[in-house]
Amino acid sequence: MAKTYKIAVITGDGIGPEITEATIIALGEVGLSIEFTKVFAGLSAWEKYGDQLPQETIDIIKSSDACLKGPTQTPPGPGSFKSATVTLRQILDLYANVRPFKNHPGVPSIHKGVDMVIVRENTEGLYKGIEYTVGDSALGIRVITKAGSERIARFAFELARREKRRKVTAVHKANVLKETCGLFRNVVAGVAARYPDIQFDEMYVDAAAMRIAMKPQDIDVIVTTNLFGDVLSDEVAGVVGGLGIAPSANVGDRYAFFEAIHGSAPKHAGKWDANPAAIMFSSAMMLRYIGEVDAGNRFEAAIDRVLEEGKTITRDLGGNAGTLDFAKAVAEKMKRT
Ligand code: NAD
Repeated sequence: MAKTYKIAVITGDGIGPEITEATIIALGEVGLSIEFTKVFAGLSAWEKYGDQLPQETIDIIKSSDACLKGPTQTPPGPGSFKSATVTLRQILDLYANVRPFKNHPGVPSIHKGVDMVIVRENTEGLYKGIEYTVGDSALGIRVITKAGSERIARFAFELARREKRRKVTAVHKANVLKETCGLFRNVVAGVAARYPDIQFDEMYVDAAAMRIAMKPQDIDVIVTTNLFGDVLSDEVAGVVGGLGIAPSANVGDRYAFFEAIHGSAPKHAGKWDANPAAIMFSSAMMLRYIGEVDAGNRFEAAIDRVLEEGKTITRDLGGNAGTLDFAKAVAEKMKRT
């Protein structure tokens, strides 16, 4: 008998419930037996339970094969709760944030021929959230460890080898942040020496931002620290067609969750007009992670066909279809494969 996969679904905030619902509809036609369990995190969990990441949510994710995560909202500034996304990454030790970027057929983009992966360290750096206020000053501690840098570097080189990629670029700012970025840079260079089949180079983060804007085709795999990876990801998404199509995986040695790069887009909430493509591409990554490589590839191809046809695309891509129209179009394509 075919296995029934258990997938925890954080519905999230803003457009989260809409795009996760759309994804569940489309995944219904993927030809697998999947049991979805909806769980709460983020602002909605805070309002309901006074806890942005209830223990029940963590337990259900731990007992599932993987988690699909809608975006969660975090109010800015002091006094509000810590981001549920960042907390979940730290609790589950999901140290690798994998963000692949490429052009998609039919999606207008600033550059063509882009095929890049950002491998972002996901548990350290400034996102460790160690901050203090002392008098009129606010201080933040940037934590970079040898062990953390070593495992993310190994992850990046293994990914490059597995995906037959040619080069890994370490992105840092070791000329200014001499201790933290200095350590990261030296550890990654040490790991690179163990992968002679993969080219290695390095770039300062400001130069990398410029290269992404001008000639992103030069870059293959980036390995970088937490904050730099977060910022550069939105830039690359912009270069290949926008946040509406950019997926990601948060992976550790035992658990993983899959989410769009974008946030909860509050101004679209309740309108059912947000683009669900990014979280759908993320769920294709999730299918491959649980071992259903063929289903993941077929699902991704179905999303691409709907984008290419351009008849059922959402407003951010120049169409006028709703979130569920897009999902149903993908489901239709899946039925035919
Ligand atoms: P955002 O990604 O939500 O929105 C940026 C812009 O892109 C907005 O104009 C938005 O309308 C548009 N956009 C984003 N996704 C879209 C989609 N699928 N379809 C159509 N348009 C889309 O970023 P923000 O406004 O900076 O953040 C809003 C909230 O999201 C904040 O509370 C932030 O903390 C949260 N956030 C969560 C995550 C996460 O859960 N991983 C990531 C980023 C931001």
